Amino acid sequence: PESRESGKIHILSNATINKIAAGEVIERPASVVKELVENSLDAEATSIKVEITSDNNGIAKIRISDDGYGMDADSALISFSRHATSKISKISDLYEISTMGFRGEALASIAAVSKVTMITKQRTLEPSPGTKIVIEGGDVVEQSPVSAPDGTSIFVEKLFFNTPVRKKFLKSVKTEFTHIFRVVEEASLANSGISFQLLHNGKVSLSTGKSGSVLDTITYVYGTEYAKEMIPVKSLQTFMKVDGFCAPPSLDAPNSRKIIISVNNRPVYSLPLVQAVKRAYGTLLPRERYPVCFLNIRIDRKVVDVNVHPAKKEVRFSREKEITEEIVASVREALDSRNLLFSYGAGN
Ligand code: ADP
Ligand code: MG
Repeated sequence: PESRESGKIHILSNATINKIAAGEVIERPASVVKELVENSLDAEATSIKVEITSDNNGIAKIRISDDGYGMDADSALISFSRHATSKISKISDLYEISTMGFRGEALASIAAVSKVTMITKQRTLEPSPGTKIVIEGGDVVEQSPVSAPDGTSIFVEKLFFNTPVRKKFLKSVKTEFTHIFRVVEEASLANSGISFQLLHNGKVSLSTGKSGSVLDTITYVYGTEYAKEMIPVKSLQTFMKVDGFCAPPSLDAPNSRKIIISVNNRPVYSLPLVQAVKRAYGTLLPRERYPVCFLNIRIDRKVVDVNVHPAKKEVRFSREKEITEEIVASVREALDSRNLLFSYGAGN
C-alpha cells in the first residue's frame, strides 16, 4: 500500500481500533459470556440467564438476559463506544475498584466482531419504553423504542464473521461450551446470592438459586452427594475473610481446575493462590492429583490490582505472601477439623 511505502503515519479508523482491541478481550465465545455476565453483575442483576445455541458450524448464538438496572436510550447507544463506561471516571478509582468492569471496552469489542441485538429498559417508577439497538461489525443498523421488561438482554450472533483467522482457531462446540460452562460455574460460585441459568440448545446445563450460601451453589452445580463431603474453610486472621469449602483428599481431581477462587466476588486466576491450596494438602494427595476447593476471599480492595490483563482474569496482590500463608493455614485448619491431617499421616 502506498501509505506504507511512503512511510506516512495515519491514525487508525475506529472500526479498526475496535477490531484490534477485540482481539485482546474477545478470544472465543466464552469471552463474550464472561464480559456480558460481568456487565449484568455490575447492573445489580439478581438473575442472569445465559442461552447458547450451537449447530454444525459451532456456537451460533449467545444470549444473556438480566434483571439489572438497564439503560435509557442514550446510554444504550453510548455503551457501544470504546472507553464508554459508567463505572470509573478517574485513575484513582482504579485503586479501589468495586465493579467487574471499568475499561469500557467489552461492548465495543463484541459489537466490532459480531452482530449484536440489545434490548434494554431502565428500572423506572413511571412507565417508560425500552430500547432496541442492532449493531453489526460496529455499525448501528437499527435503533428503536420497544416494549421490554426491566433489565437488559444482549443477543450475539455471527461472532468473528469479519475476523476469519480468529474464527478458524475456534475449537469444537464441546470445547467451546466447556469454556462457557467454566465462566458461568465460576461466576455462580463467586456470587451465591445471584441465580444463574445456563442453557445449551434449550437444555439446562447449570441452574443455581440465590440463597447466598456457597454450599447451596456447590449443591446446585455439583450435586448433593458432592456437597455433603465438603468441609467449610474459614479464615483465621482478620485482614482477610475466607469463606469457602474444600473436599477431603479422597475427592481429588486430575487437574487444578477444581480449585476455584474468587476475590471480592471476582473469579480470579492467581497461580500463587492455587499453589497455596495445593500446598495445604501437602502429601495428602499423590503428586499428580489436585485438591477440590472453592474459596471466596474478601480483602481490602486496595491490595488487589485487577488492571493487569485486559480480560482481568489475572490479578496481583500487594500482600501476596500473607494472603497465601493465610490460605494454607485456613485450608489446613479445615482438613484438621475432620482429623484428615493425621489419619493420612501427613500432619504436623
Ligand atoms: P465496562 O463494563 O468496562 O464499563 P462495557 O463495554 O462492558 O464496559 O459496558 C459499557 C457500559 O454499558 C457499562 O459501563 C454500563 O454502563 C453499560 N452496560 C453494559 N451492560 C449493561 C447491562 N447488562 N445492564 C446495564 N448497563 C449495562
Ligand atoms: Mg463490562
